[in-house]
Amino acid sequence: MQLANLKQANARDVSAAVAYGRREFLRSATGLTAGSLFACSSAGRLVSAQSPKRKAVVVTFGGGARDEETFAPEGQENIPNLVHTLFPESTFYAQVINKGILGHYVATASLATGVYETFNNFAAVSPQNPTIFEYFRKDLRRPANDAWVVAPSNGFNRIGESNHRSYGGGLGAGVILPKHLLASSMTPSSTGYEHLLRDSYETPFYTPAIAGNEFEMQKLKELLKLSVSDFTAHASSLASPDELSVYIVRRLMREVAPSLLWITLHDIDIAHSGTYSMYLEGIQRSDRLCAEIWKTIQSEPEYANKTNMFILPDFGRDSDTDPGGNGFQHHRTGDPLSRTTWMMALGPGIRKGVVIDRPVESIDLVPTLGSMLGFTPRYAEGKPLAELV
Ligand SMILES: [Zn+2]
Repeated sequence: MQLANLKQANARDVSAAVAYGRREFLRSATGLTAGSLFACSSAGRLVSAQSPKRKAVVVTFGGGARDEETFAPEGQENIPNLVHTLFPESTFYAQVINKGILGHYVATASLATGVYETFNNFAAVSPQNPTIFEYFRKDLRRPANDAWVVAPSNGFNRIGESNHRSYGGGLGAGVILPKHLLASSMTPSSTGYEHLLRDSYETPFYTPAIAGNEFEMQKLKELLKLSVSDFTAHASSLASPDELSVYIVRRLMREVAPSLLWITLHDIDIAHSGTYSMYLEGIQRSDRLCAEIWKTIQSEPEYANKTNMFILPDFGRDSDTDPGGNGFQHHRTGDPLSRTTWMMALGPGIRKGVVIDRPVESIDLVPTLGSMLGFTPRYAEGKPLAELV
């Protein structure tokens, strides 16, 4: 076997071992039976797909976590909500491979287009392929207010809309950057918000100019029925940028009720600072916020019983054992652990407490949502996940 093939085989073995470990962990942590865990056919669906009222909420983590701190026995104390509240409601994909560039904006854009985008992660550019928001709005003739993104940093301001010639041009999602909203609403004397405003944990000196389809401060009041003073007063009570994002998400769900809502959390990526305790806090907070978003879905009449939720990190983090990596802090090596992530799918028509451990890819998300919501992602390269559609 040639060296390249050997390396690939090893990567497959590592990813399969990770998936096996996650499955065994969930089985022992939740006490669910092997039968439900091993089931993998698409039988047992509860509602028909493509109902016009069906909605979807996608939660991604910009900055995944290692299993040592999450889906492994020693990590379970950090994710009680994912394990005990959300997993029993979900189909869990234990082996989601990301074969693209491991930078947060380009990887999240790839999740949103269903194609491994190849642009410079640190450039202020739109995705090259149509986004899920464009397929959704164009195919289903949905208005601009029916698709929204809440994103963590200025670098994401163009994620709502591609520059594809058949799409783009006003067909995408509105993008809200809560931190930017807060920064633009602050007066010179404002204090107490600094902890919410850092734009990127990876490149603290990178502050791209805002341009593109970004939501403007003056529209905040009319859309979210939220005054600037209420917004800033509430923000001062929040512990992190992700709390601020979820606050905006709740207002959006209440006041606008978009059918397609995408939120990217980013607190975990504080790991780049090298402070392990803050990385753990980020995981614990993300775990809690995911459960809060799911609870909001259940309690909002516009969403309850007709909304599917997907939770997935954009990718993982480096292995401790790879000589080029340094464990939890970064995602630089491209090793199998930094590429083998997971995904939870919840809501109507999705079987509960099921683990799928066959390998799937990050770019399968958009085709899967296309089959569920009834649009055609023509340029996406992934495949609909058979267990969900
Ligand atoms: Zn990062």
